[in-house]
Amino acid sequence: MLLRSPPRRLHLLRPHHLRVLSNAAAALATPPPAPTEWTEAPVSAVRAATPDASLFHVSLDLSSHPSLLASHLAAGQFLPFRLPSAPYPIFLAISSPPPASSALPKSFDFLVKRLPGTPSARLCDLCPGDLVGVGGSVVGRGFEVGRISDAREVLVFATGSGISPIRSLIESGFGENENIDVSLFYGARNLQRMAYQERFDDWESRGIKIVPVLSRPDDQWTGQRGYVQNAFSRTKKVVNPSSMGAILCGHKQMSEEITRALVADGMSIDKILTNF
Ligand SMILES: Cc1cc2nc3c(=O)[nH]c(=O)nc-3n(C[C@H](O)[C@H](O)[C@H](O)COP(=O)(O)OP(=O)(O)OC[C@H]3O[C@@H](n4cnc5c(N)ncnc54)[C@H](O)[C@@H]3O)c2cc1C
Repeated sequence: MLLRSPPRRLHLLRPHHLRVLSNAAAALATPPPAPTEWTEAPVSAVRAATPDASLFHVSLDLSSHPSLLASHLAAGQFLPFRLPSAPYPIFLAISSPPPASSALPKSFDFLVKRLPGTPSARLCDLCPGDLVGVGGSVVGRGFEVGRISDAREVLVFATGSGISPIRSLIESGFGENENIDVSLFYGARNLQRMAYQERFDDWESRGIKIVPVLSRPDDQWTGQRGYVQNAFSRTKKVVNPSSMGAILCGHKQMSEEITRALVADGMSIDKILTNF
């Protein structure tokens, strides 16, 4: 039966839901451990990814690092970076898809938010050929899509640079099975800050329904406004938790609010995937 989901009320959550949510929040707040092995690789491309240059595409030439390339097994995994004169490492999700067994790529792509005064800005200021310190292997479990292999409908929520591992997921073939219906709620401040717009046609041809959501659009914008969680509440008419899954990446508050809403609607926390 098709049902409009009821208003999401926090008091409907049971104690075990709250325990799970607070564990998830604690996990989000803890950075991954720094690697013990480091290596160096040249940057092969650096260019603005958005019209306002708040996000950058960065590619690493890993042709001399076959074992590092081969350690990328799942969309959502990330790589630690040690930037010149930076006091601490940063972690960046790999935006290119994991290699198909037949063709090993020679590089990893990243989508980097350029935060002035931080290591991420130093990375965006490098030139092709510059060497950068990176972990000796890819880190994290990625999105454990096996946990939602029986889902008929998957809701994907991404904000800001959180779209990076979602690109990896989509371009690795997730959603191409015609038995699965995938909707991507993708939030950004405005179109000047929204990366990968040039890939939307390709993603749609792979079976992804894209719902762009702008929190501060200009007057011409006729699409969804606000945050992805607002757009989801407004547009979603069917919630059939037993045949659904969700994948989240981006803003911590977004992840927490969406998780709360889906759990309140009856979705098992095991069916809500994150990469960290
Ligand atoms: C799994 C994962 C994937 C990510 N993927 C992406 C991505 O694809 N694209 C993207 O743009 N960003 C990504 N990020 C965020 C990125 O790693 C940085 O957090 C971001 O660039 C902000 O960096 P920051 O310098 O403000 O410091 P943060 O790493 O956010 O830390 C906040 C502050 O804590 C202090 N601090 C941090 N680490 C240390 C340390 N080891 N020792 C002492 N002090 C410390 C610093 O004062 C720092 O300013 C990801 C983060 C994680 C954890």
